[in-house]
Amino acid sequence: MEIKNIAEVLNDALEYGRKYINKGNVATYIPELAKVDKNLLGVSIVTMGGKRYHAGDWQHEFTIQSISKTISLIFALEHFGSEYVFSKVGMESSGDPFNSLDKLEIKNKYPSNPFINAGAIAVAGLIADKYEFEDYLVLVRRLCGRDLIEVDKNVYISENETGLLNRSMAYLMKNSGVLDTDVEETLKFYFRMCSIKMNTNDLANYASILANDGVEVKSGIRLIDKSTIKILKSLMVTCGMYDGSGEFAIRVGMPAKSGVGGGIVASAENKMGIGIFGPAIDTQGNSVGGYHILEYLSNELGLHYFSRELSNVVY
Ligand code: GLN
Repeated sequence: MEIKNIAEVLNDALEYGRKYINKGNVATYIPELAKVDKNLLGVSIVTMGGKRYHAGDWQHEFTIQSISKTISLIFALEHFGSEYVFSKVGMESSGDPFNSLDKLEIKNKYPSNPFINAGAIAVAGLIADKYEFEDYLVLVRRLCGRDLIEVDKNVYISENETGLLNRSMAYLMKNSGVLDTDVEETLKFYFRMCSIKMNTNDLANYASILANDGVEVKSGIRLIDKSTIKILKSLMVTCGMYDGSGEFAIRVGMPAKSGVGGGIVASAENKMGIGIFGPAIDTQGNSVGGYHILEYLSNELGLHYFSRELSNVVY
């Protein structure tokens, strides 16, 4: 069996992903995101042995957008408990686009899950009611392993000025009693968390903690409770790639979460954490280059959660 080296595989994955960039476009509904170069593409890996590998534009900073919803869910579950959190938001995939407000009106007043915008706004409301944004940022920095992680002010302003759909969802939820907190304060929190910027190395650090069942690889310290990890990763499988989650589960098979800034955090269970950035996104809001990098890595390294194949790649 030919033994391959991971650095080579990662470069091949990047080149494979690059071929699909022209099938997507940068998000334009947030004006600041429309300015990003759609040809950027980068990936970082942190293995369970603590090794790091990078390829492409991994040092480029981007806003994490909906990836922040996984960390606000961790924060809420660990501060308020799952019973309370899931009294405000459901556990089911919606099958609708991430910014849909259809079901808030017609099906039930509760958002389907914490990863669609309405659900994440409801969770942000819980946190904003009792904590400062800085408390949330401390958790983000700890999980990503870098103290200098900040909010991109221009993206924040851009989202706040143009987020009429998100505002509508928040007011609908305020009207039905799902949101108890001040709408504008909640939205400020939500837009700020979406505008946090980092690079793929930061994201891979976080991903490696997810892949390692909540324990930081280099220190052996548990940063996320076991019960939180179970809920979080289950929701990442069923809802992490929005209305593309089913196909992603088949083609890639890793708990993952995307953001319209082009980031994807993916956890290859007990093997490695993967952070991706590729701002050209598909109609479902998932990075097209990133999606294909993950599919390539999943096949080459046997990372699909139902794969029992042994990989011939050393990492
Ligand atoms: N900030 C974005 C929004 O609210 C997040 C959406 C996303 O990344 N899918 O529309």
